[in-house]
Amino acid sequence: MLIVSSNKGKIKEIEAVLSSYGFSFQVLGKEYPVLYVEEDGNDFSDNALIKAKAYAERYSITSLADDSGLEVDSLDGRPGVQSARYAGVDAKDEDRVRKLLEELKDVPLEKRSARFKCCICVYDPKSKRPIFAEGVCEGRITTSPRGTNGFGYDPVFEVEGFNGRTMAELSMEEKNTVSHRARALMDLSKKIS
Ligand code: IMP
Repeated sequence: MLIVSSNKGKIKEIEAVLSSYGFSFQVLGKEYPVLYVEEDGNDFSDNALIKAKAYAERYSITSLADDSGLEVDSLDGRPGVQSARYAGVDAKDEDRVRKLLEELKDVPLEKRSARFKCCICVYDPKSKRPIFAEGVCEGRITTSPRGTNGFGYDPVFEVEGFNGRTMAELSMEEKNTVSHRARALMDLSKKIS
């Protein structure tokens, strides 16, 4: 199975959960060069399918792709599928966090509910049948960043059930038990076992 990701952390997580099911993995590189794929789907599952299918068909290998992001209720679900591009294509994590806090500056704590969502698609080029899995992590957006672990919106995402700690204040092990991606991988392992 080809893991369609250049993110080492994601690759490690995926291998850890799925290797016990007898898969061997390939990653992007010399044998499987990165393709330009336009992620123009309307939701996370559209984009996961677009990526998995493009690689599976081009390289004739079962491919796994994921798409994820943050949905904020008081912003009607934004940034959603635009999470990576929320503050522009060249923006950094800090820019996205700053823009989010600015947009929410007049929103009281009780109305700052949000969730991380992750959709995984595994596409087999022979059967042409996609398998989808999904994971969600509920929480709310803080008024200022806290913590140094993780990436992206982690410092401003207070995880439900963790006594007010943000995702960036959780250890990697803790994040891997509650994150949207970990939950999507658990869902996937049930569907392929
Ligand atoms: P992608 O699915 O890796 O393209 O992620 C899309 C965007 O969603 C990232 O650029 C991050 O801004 C955000 N995101 C996805 N997963 C996480 C996470 O676990 N923590 C924080 N931000 C995330």
